[in-house]
Amino acid sequence: LQLLARQLAAGISSARAYEEAKQRAEELARLDAAKTAFFSNVSHEFRTPLTLILGPVEDALAKTTKSLEGESLDLVRRNALRLYKLVNTLLDFSRMEAGRAQASYAPVDLSVFTTSLASAFQSAVESAGLRLVVDCPPLPEPLYVDPEMWEKVVLNLLSNAVKYTYHGEIRVSLRWEDAQAVLRVEDTGVGIPEEELPRVFERFYRVRVSQGRSHEGTGIGLALVQELVKLHGGNVGVTSQLGKGTTFTVRLPRGTAHLPPERVERTSP
Ligand code: ADP
Repeated sequence: LQLLARQLAAGISSARAYEEAKQRAEELARLDAAKTAFFSNVSHEFRTPLTLILGPVEDALAKTTKSLEGESLDLVRRNALRLYKLVNTLLDFSRMEAGRAQASYAPVDLSVFTTSLASAFQSAVESAGLRLVVDCPPLPEPLYVDPEMWEKVVLNLLSNAVKYTYHGEIRVSLRWEDAQAVLRVEDTGVGIPEEELPRVFERFYRVRVSQGRSHEGTGIGLALVQELVKLHGGNVGVTSQLGKGTTFTVRLPRGTAHLPPERVERTSP
């Protein structure tokens, strides 16, 4: 009888512990959802006034002839654009977090597309005193990607490479390996300490020792990249050597078997 009583008591206390843990988990999920909604609302609220700043500045810049005035207007424009991009990244991220990101997969010549995305970075890379090597030979077949999302993946990886590299080169390459498209973005930058590598894809995580050329950043770029790649049934990994450089590798599977059929377009965009 005593044994039964003890077992009963243990059962009751573990049931209570379970109930408490469940309540705590629900509370945390609620807080997380509230935070995501907050991000989303704030980003939305920032976007409208920013558009209203950018429009007239662009107009004035097109009309101005005085070089000094032009310079300060250009400064306003560049910084407003920077904020605009940041706000858009926050919005993308909160959409993704809330499971509201809707991809539309179209068959894309990934070699041509990636080459054009990377080449658009040429001047940013050069003005940072670096070399850009783009090596994306044709792949045997089109890949099903959401073009806007693929653009975000490539641009996030490239802008990180520029941010965390002081000299040398940035190499963007595309290969066909084991029936997958493999994108590599390699740099000769500051590198990431081995113990921090597993954490760089965590949202808001920033490596303390590897502060880039500008100290700005949010720690959501790579979290966004990882989510976008996952939506394509792929994965992203990183290898790095401190002080030597970093390589991010994105693998995308061929075909459409891993994608929701209703979101797959059959013709080229
Ligand atoms: P951030 O806005 O801080 O750049 P990310 O999510 O894009 O956020 O990256 C997370 C962290 O990973 C960065 O703070 C940086 O420490 C590290 N990191 C990302 N890319 C590189 C790179 N190419 N070289 C070195 N460190 C990098």
